[in-house]
Amino acid sequence: MKVVVTGGAGFIGSAVCRHLVKDKACEVLNLDKLTYAGVPESLKEIEDSPLYRFEKADVCDKTAVAAIFADYQPDAVMHLAAESHVDRSIDGPATFIETNIVGTYTMLECARDYWNGLSEGKKERFRFHHISTDEVYGSLGDDGLFEETTPYDPRSPYSASKASSDHLVKAWFHTYGLPVVITNCSNNYGPYHFPEKLIPLVILNALDEKPLPIYGKGDNIRDWLYVEDHAKALVAVVASGELGETYNVGGRNERTNLEVVETICSILDELRPRTEGSYKDLITFVADRPGHDARYAIDATKLETELGWKAQENFDTGIRRTIQWYLDNDWWWRPIREGRYSGERLGKA
Ligand code: NAD
Repeated sequence: MKVVVTGGAGFIGSAVCRHLVKDKACEVLNLDKLTYAGVPESLKEIEDSPLYRFEKADVCDKTAVAAIFADYQPDAVMHLAAESHVDRSIDGPATFIETNIVGTYTMLECARDYWNGLSEGKKERFRFHHISTDEVYGSLGDDGLFEETTPYDPRSPYSASKASSDHLVKAWFHTYGLPVVITNCSNNYGPYHFPEKLIPLVILNALDEKPLPIYGKGDNIRDWLYVEDHAKALVAVVASGELGETYNVGGRNERTNLEVVETICSILDELRPRTEGSYKDLITFVADRPGHDARYAIDATKLETELGWKAQENFDTGIRRTIQWYLDNDWWWRPIREGRYSGERLGKA
């Protein structure tokens, strides 16, 4: 399979590119604008592979995307490029509207033009896979899980922009017959995670002896999925998903934010003890995120039963692997922390 992956220099996109090239021997073209969140070093393991190619381009640039499709002749597009950080969407929603909505519209139109020009066999096999988030479903109370049929109820500029893009993708399926599949996934964590997000931020602040910020009381709940499990789910869906269908992806690993941070502290206390005291002493409660969703939790039964996917890591094994990775790979994160993002608070509105 020849796949165009958009946003392949990002956290999840790079895991998808590595999995496709290393484990599936697929040809991959990574189409990425290299925004602040794009880190080409995340592709180091595959950058010299003859199966891998990189093109710097903006998903909003129709001419550039159309030229890449015409030249590369992909069998599938996996569309991950997006602005992805809720806090940044509070500070500046404009790029979220532009990249997540207009960018997805542009990708859909380029895919439709390209697909219309394919031979019958290739046309039938082509897939446009849109990668989205569980945040489109809004916020849960103490009980219940997000299912594929849960009504959309986004609350942040980020989740609203992703919800819009999901609706566009569904419209292109129903109106134009474009062969699409959609996935909505819970919070990811793992290696190569940009250190603005909770887990890498806490690991690196702890190593720097800086405060470990917890929004509000730390009782918001997220359902954590190891990024490599997500990458495998995405490849299963693009290869075998039913056209026009949505698949929820999640690892059944609900934790409060406080539990997540305390777990990281305990593992670091064991792997890299401080000279005195526990890393928990660095925990600092700060003003909550405006509109902070209380709880997300995914029901991934459809993906598990129909496509046979199952998460291989649970939170306890995955978080330990992740922390060890950050301890072993400061070549990757140190230039980011010393350059474009050093951990300052974002999204206070
Ligand atoms: P990320 O922020 O780490 O990476 C985004 C990538 O997209 C970067 O490489 C960036 O350079 C690129 N990009 C941004 N704007 C672009 C543009 N206009 N044109 C081309 N490239 C552009 O994001 P991520 O965490 O890897 O998320 C990837 C996708 O998965 C997103 O669509 C996100 O909504 C979705 N998602 C993320 C999570 C999560 O926990 N991180 C969970 C569910 C779904």
